[in-house]
Amino acid sequence: MEMPESLLLCYYGNPAKLNMSWSYDNPGRRFFGCKKFGNRFRKPCRFFSWFDPPLTPRSRVVLLRLLKKVRTLEDARKRERRTWFFVLVIVTVLLFFKP
Ligand SMILES: [Zn+2]
Repeated sequence: MEMPESLLLCYYGNPAKLNMSWSYDNPGRRFFGCKKFGNRFRKPCRFFSWFDPPLTPRSRVVLLRLLKKVRTLEDARKRERRTWFFVLVIVTVLLFFKP
């Protein structure tokens, strides 16, 4: 999805950055925040403003279930890759290091 240009300025007059929340309460909900939020070398700017309306309870449940499924599949894929790498190493050792 295309992210719109910044429409808001933070408390210090800098264009606010559009980010996406992945918190439990607001998965996928976009918000404007200061670019320098959390920058420890300057005075922190706590500017924050939601861009998207709140999720309905149903869409929140569906999104969280989908996210859980994606993570489960990604983990399974990583395990599968490790297994195939291990098999490749064993086959290579057996082929090239015969006594
Ligand atoms: Zn700021």
